Amino acid sequence: MQAPYDVIVIGGGPAGLTAGLYTSRAGLRTLLVEQLMPGGQAATTDMVENYPGFPEGIAGPELMQRFEQQAVRFGLEVRIAQAQAISVRGRDRIVSVGDEELVAGALIIASGSSPRKLGVPGEDAFRGRGVSYCATCDGPLYRDAVLAMVGGGDSAVKEGIFLTKFARKVYLIHRRDELRASGVTRDRALSNEKIEFVWNSVVEEIVGEQMVSGVRVRNVKTREQSTLPVDGVFIFVGTEPNTGFVKGILKLDEKGTLVTNRDTETLVPGIFAAGDVQEPFAQQIAVAVGHGAQAAMMAEHYLAEQRRE
Ligand code: NAP
Repeated sequence: MQAPYDVIVIGGGPAGLTAGLYTSRAGLRTLLVEQLMPGGQAATTDMVENYPGFPEGIAGPELMQRFEQQAVRFGLEVRIAQAQAISVRGRDRIVSVGDEELVAGALIIASGSSPRKLGVPGEDAFRGRGVSYCATCDGPLYRDAVLAMVGGGDSAVKEGIFLTKFARKVYLIHRRDELRASGVTRDRALSNEKIEFVWNSVVEEIVGEQMVSGVRVRNVKTREQSTLPVDGVFIFVGTEPNTGFVKGILKLDEKGTLVTNRDTETLVPGIFAAGDVQEPFAQQIAVAVGHGAQAAMMAEHYLAEQRRE
C-alpha cells in the first residue's frame, strides 16, 4: 500500500517551507509538521536585510508569512504538532506525533536550532521574569529599561541594536575584546550610543527577587567581579540543533548537527535534512532556502527511483 503522504517535512522555518514549496509544486503530497507556528527563528527577527530580493529589507515575520503562503498555494498541508520520533518500516518513513504515526515515502528534517543556554544560576529561575532568548518578542516590554545582552555574534549584536529602540541602555557583555559579529552589524553597534560594551566578561549569575534586578559579571582578564543593575537579560550565545527526536536513527556529528552527504541525504535512504539542523556554520536564511530546495529535489528523485523499482 502506498504511504498517505509522499513527503513529510519536519519544521516550518525557511528550510522546511522551501522544501514544502518545492515538493508540493512538484505534485508530491506533502505534509509539514511544525510544533509552534511556521516561520522558525527567522520569524523572530526584527528586520532581515540580507535576503535577496528585498532591497529595503523585510520584517522577519512578514518574510516567513510569504514563504508559507507561497507553499500553501501549491498544496502544502501544515499541521501544528510536535514530532516526537522518527522510524523506518520497509519503504515507509514514519513520524510519531503523540499516539499517531504519520507515514510518508520520504522525510525532510528541517527542525532548525534552539537558543543555547548560558547555564548560570538564575537563568532558569528568571526565564520569563527578565530572562529572554527573543528580543523581538520581549524587547517592547522594556521601554526605558536598562538591559544586558550576552554574546558577541551576529544575533547578539543585531538584537542588541534592536533593543536600543526601547531600552535607554544596553550592556553588551562579551567574553572577548572583539566581536564575532562583523561588517555593518558590528559597525552599527560600535557607534550606537545606547550600547555600552562590557568586554572580556562572563555572566556568572542572574540575580533578583520576583524579577531580574542584575547580573553578576566577572572580567576574565582581571578576575574582578561586579554586579550590573539591569531590568532584563537577553541571551544570544549561539544555538543548538533540534535533533532530540532523531537520536538513535540518524547520525549526528560532534556539534550535534545531522550528518548528510552533499545531496542533503542522511545515512538513511529517503531521509533528508536541510537548514540549521545540518548546517553548523552558515546559519543564514538564504543558505537554509538553498538546502531546503535541494533536499526537496533529492526527495523527489528518491521517490521516483522507488516507484521505478
Ligand atoms: P555565534 O555566531 O555562534 O555566536 C555566539 C556568540 O556567543 C559568540 O560571540 C560566542 O563567543 C558567545 N558565546 C558562546 N557561548 C558562550 C558562553 N557560554 N558564554 C558567553 N558567551 C558565549 O551564534 P549566533 O550569533 O546565534 O549566530 C549563529 C549563526 O547565524 C552565525 O552563522 C551567524 O553569522 C548567523 N546569523 C546571521 C545574521 C545576519 O544578519 N547575517 C543574524 C543572526 C545570526 P566567542 O565569539 O568568543 O566564541
